[in-house]
Amino acid sequence: MARKSFFIDTTRCTGCRGCQTACKQWNQNPGTKTRQEGTYQNPPDLSAATWKLVRFSEAKGPGGETRWYFFPDQCRHCLYPPCKIAADRKEKEADILDAKTRAVIFNPAIKITPEHFKEIRDICPFDIPRYDEKLGRMAKCTMCFDRVGEGMLPACVKTCPTGAMNFGDRDAIRKMAEKRLDRVRKIHRRASLVKPGAVRVIFLLADYPENYQQFAAADPAEGITRRMALKHPLQSISGLGDRIG
Ligand code: SF4
Ligand code: SF4
Repeated sequence: MARKSFFIDTTRCTGCRGCQTACKQWNQNPGTKTRQEGTYQNPPDLSAATWKLVRFSEAKGPGGETRWYFFPDQCRHCLYPPCKIAADRKEKEADILDAKTRAVIFNPAIKITPEHFKEIRDICPFDIPRYDEKLGRMAKCTMCFDRVGEGMLPACVKTCPTGAMNFGDRDAIRKMAEKRLDRVRKIHRRASLVKPGAVRVIFLLADYPENYQQFAAADPAEGITRRMALKHPLQSISGLGDRIG
């Protein structure tokens, strides 16, 4: 079960979007028509052609001052992925686990109806699955399992210039994340790791998750879904304080 994991240290992220671009390049995903929505976040959301998106938000920091928050969003590759449970009920083999890495992969060879896709998207607590209407296929991050299988790093990790993106064997990554949290907490008392026992993409946040984005934190093992998260603010479903780890 150990296999691979990411550690995303948002305290080191500068919002350069190198990871976002590298993801598109490696996966040969086309550019996306975009628009200005009053933020530097570009494009505005994940899509069938954008599997990694650096989310930008402005919120009040611990001292009441306005701060920038960067969140390099992507599939968390949950250990027990709710999307797979939902997909298995609809189309066998639509959502598969890579044997080498345990990456959660939407099978591009399997078509899904829009109705079935809606159910699969709604169950993901992090709002990750997207749909290509023309091809009838689901899309999201694959953990670059094709690169990793050849001994390379995922494209986003290889590209990140600051050390925010990290990848490796799960046990080593968890230790790295915990060690870094100890250090970061000396400066940021609200810092936390987002449910490291439940996901393969472990985020270190310096502040409350809701300052970063609506779906920054959830615990797939607690049965929280996107539908619930949309109905209730993050604060009320994740509990406050040092509540994430
Ligand atoms: S984050 Fe969502 S899409 Fe990714 S594995 Fe978990 S449930 Fe599936
Ligand atoms: S490449 Fe690294 S520093 Fe740049 S946006 Fe992505 S995670 Fe942040």
